Amino acid sequence: MKIRNRIAIQFTLIVATILIVFSGLVYTVSSDFREEEFYDRLKNKARTTCQFLVKVQEIDATLLKIIDSNTLTTLNDERIVVFNQHNEIIYTTADQPSINYDHNLLNKIRGLKELETYQGKDQVLGLLYEEGNEPLIVLAAAYDQFGHNKLLNLRNTLAWSLLIGMGMTILLSVYFAGNALKPIADINGQVTTITALNLKHRLQEANSPDEIGQLATNFNIVLEKLELAFDQQRSFVYHASHELRTPLAALKSEIQLAQHQLKDQPDIREVLFNLSTDIERLIGITNSLLFLARSFEDLGRLQMKPVRIDELVFLAREELYTTHPEYTIAIDYSNLPESENHTLIQGNEALLKRVFLNLFDNACKYSPDRSARVLITTDTAFCAISVSDTGIGIAPDDLPHIFEPFYRTPNASDYSGYGIGLSVCHRITEAHNGRIYVTSAPDEGSTFRLKLPHI
Ligand code: ADP
Repeated sequence: MKIRNRIAIQFTLIVATILIVFSGLVYTVSSDFREEEFYDRLKNKARTTCQFLVKVQEIDATLLKIIDSNTLTTLNDERIVVFNQHNEIIYTTADQPSINYDHNLLNKIRGLKELETYQGKDQVLGLLYEEGNEPLIVLAAAYDQFGHNKLLNLRNTLAWSLLIGMGMTILLSVYFAGNALKPIADINGQVTTITALNLKHRLQEANSPDEIGQLATNFNIVLEKLELAFDQQRSFVYHASHELRTPLAALKSEIQLAQHQLKDQPDIREVLFNLSTDIERLIGITNSLLFLARSFEDLGRLQMKPVRIDELVFLAREELYTTHPEYTIAIDYSNLPESENHTLIQGNEALLKRVFLNLFDNACKYSPDRSARVLITTDTAFCAISVSDTGIGIAPDDLPHIFEPFYRTPNASDYSGYGIGLSVCHRITEAHNGRIYVTSAPDEGSTFRLKLPHI
């Protein structure tokens, strides 16, 4: 999962938790407050009723009932029942006392002086009234319609606020996380373009001294060190192979001279012959190393210009025919290019020709009939050149390694070569933003496919 989405989810979860806890707290406090407030109102009501009954002589139960049912403060479904000390009803607002009670409840109220309870949805308050001649027990019950409506409204408001708050948090956190990580995404984009071939490339360093600016700076320092190490390695290979060439050439001519002078000593001649073969091989390897080091250098400062790839294919064939007249290379188009530009590539002619020379040479060298078939294909974005042969082929286990320097497959040991060509081809192709693929089966043949973006 992308860091941006992970941050957004984590942030949303945190905010959602805070909002839920906060909403729960607000709701619980409001609910408690409503309950207490309603008990207070019931208590006032019960006390007032008792005061009327006990202190105002002119009021009897009937009059009190009329007053009770007509005051503005009458509560929803309000019921009041007053008991004397023998638990006999001396006043009730309803004809039938609609509050459930028993002697236990009344005695409990006498003990506690005040009792708050629920009967169904109704709140019930029991009160011991001791201000008259005899202690009275009042039961007052009602349903807090208004309070419950307010609570319902609060609950809906909180739920909607929670949903809207979370929606906004998701959107804002995705936006801000994306914004915060954008410099990293930019760095990522730049890093992917850096390969061993363009180590000179540097990341854009932001002016801000934050962590991301620091990351770009440090990455550039690492690139600098890498470039230096690569340069040193390249120059070592170059100079070492260059220095080896002269003594090896001298050795070769001395051996040839000795062979000439010791013609009549067959034992020594054989030793000299073996020596000469080994020297040839050493010279070959040294030349390959030099070639590899030079090709790296060339790639570092590539001169690119528009190159017509099909012309280059024909040129490479002609050049190869001069050194290997026994080769046969058939060149064909799999489709006619729709536009002239479809075979035009921004590239380096000498290096691209080297790729074709190597692929054609390999195809013919590793085939018993010394022949290869080249197919040029174009589409709207790429120009592809495939080189097929019906030669010794490559085993599946060897396929991932053949572009590594000096790697040679076991079945190629009878053929000349040092395992350098394909690794150079690979590098040159990459330097041209192209790709090189191979499909092959042992004893059936191979197809190398080069895909280059055209102009
Ligand atoms: P080499 O000089 O040995 O041909 P390359 O780098 O050109 O060096 O090729 C590397 C190895 O890949 C070869 O040694 C050979 O084992 C294998 N290879 C390359 N091309 C072919 C081919 N057309 N058919 C079979 N094997 C091949």
